Amino acid sequence: MDIDSLFTEEELMVRQTVRDFVDDDVLPVIEEAHRTEKFPMHLVQKMAEMGLFGATISDYGLPGLNQVAYGLIMQELERGDSGLRSFASVQSGLVMFPIHQYGSKEQKDHWIPKLARGEAIGCFGLTEPDFGSNPGGMRTNARKDGDSWILNGAKSWITNGSIADVAVVWAKTSEGIKGFLVEKDTPGFSTANHMGKFSLRASTTSQLFFQDCRIPAENLLPETGTLRHPLSCLSTARYGIAWGGLGAAMAVYNTALEYSKTRIQFAGQPIASHQLVQNKLAWMITEITKGQFLALQMGRLKDQGKLKPHHVSMGKMNNVHIALECARMARDILGANGISDEYPVIRHMLNLESVKTYEGTHDIHNLVIGEAVTGIPAYNPPMSNEVAQRMEKEKEAARK
Ligand SMILES: Cc1cc2nc3c(=O)[nH]c(=O)nc-3n(C[C@H](O)[C@H](O)[C@H](O)COP(=O)(O)OP(=O)(O)OC[C@H]3O[C@@H](n4cnc5c(N)ncnc54)[C@H](O)[C@@H]3O)c2cc1C
Repeated sequence: MDIDSLFTEEELMVRQTVRDFVDDDVLPVIEEAHRTEKFPMHLVQKMAEMGLFGATISDYGLPGLNQVAYGLIMQELERGDSGLRSFASVQSGLVMFPIHQYGSKEQKDHWIPKLARGEAIGCFGLTEPDFGSNPGGMRTNARKDGDSWILNGAKSWITNGSIADVAVVWAKTSEGIKGFLVEKDTPGFSTANHMGKFSLRASTTSQLFFQDCRIPAENLLPETGTLRHPLSCLSTARYGIAWGGLGAAMAVYNTALEYSKTRIQFAGQPIASHQLVQNKLAWMITEITKGQFLALQMGRLKDQGKLKPHHVSMGKMNNVHIALECARMARDILGANGISDEYPVIRHMLNLESVKTYEGTHDIHNLVIGEAVTGIPAYNPPMSNEVAQRMEKEKEAARK
């Protein structure tokens, strides 16, 4: 569809630079990282030198790229691995963004250059063991005590948690939901990794624990106070995921296409000559192309300040969904080889199961779009008095 004609020269140059980095530095090491469940830390320095962290920020000597160029960075990183893109998304969209947007001058001066240079790693703690899709229910809380805040609670499923130098942690306070910068080694702050993941294995995912953790008042993000603030960070990161999903889809499509042209079955014919196989390839390339137009228009709207949360929901939901379907089809086309990490397909397929769930599940984004078109929020299902009373009785019985 000649989509490249819709990108500027700068956007194409950014895409090529990151594509070369992924081909030369990421693909040779990523299967081993996935196998051994280790984030390839040595890539952080190179990504920092390429200006991939905070790439849309224009002060502090950062590149100030537009949103489409940022999206293409995410696409190319995820063509390598969703874990690598997750690292960059968290560092840029969930850590540098809130510090830059809601932080004090001192916080920005201290953290933005360090995070951009990869000298410090960040993480974003919103999800809790009992509150995922509904973060507003969070139990983590902070109370003022003289010149500091005392933080108590726990966060779970936090990307980069145990390798982070600074955690952006969201907590309930008497003044609303506030963001805190919790530095590594603060007494009362500890982490433990989620082990045995079968998805995003090349990414570190951790629990964060806060027990009477004393945070100096100057580590409070001063411009925060409602759930709108962490959600604005998620909107930025979800926008990147809409592009990232396309990268994973492109990787599995290309693998399946090449494989189908060389794999011979039945009377010396490549499997690509069968209509059923072509049907799958045609579905993949059509959905990837539609997803690219969607992502590109989202980027142009974002640069014009017109992108709304429900647009982001549509892009994240659709592009991750089609990426996962492409991965499942590609896995099928590769037959037995589809389950081996000799090929990147099964890794992308497993990764995309996480990407479908995090940053708002597929179905929560459905509800966001549903609310936008009907005006009716459907997150809390209506419940008859009879059902409510029965559930209350069951809860009471369980308590006893
Ligand atoms: C690898 C990984 C990395 C992550 N990284 C981070 C991170 O860095 N920071 C962070 O804060 N969080 C992170 N998360 C957490 C992620 O954002 C949550 O897992 C996600 O929000 C879903 O929450 P949950 O897992 O508690 O699922 P739940 O909210 O319990 O949902 C379970 C199911 O119920 C459905 N559901 C829930 N409510 C409704 C409703 N009202 N209507 C219909 N269906 C509903 C959901 O769609 C889903 O299918 C990460 C998760 C993973 C897997």
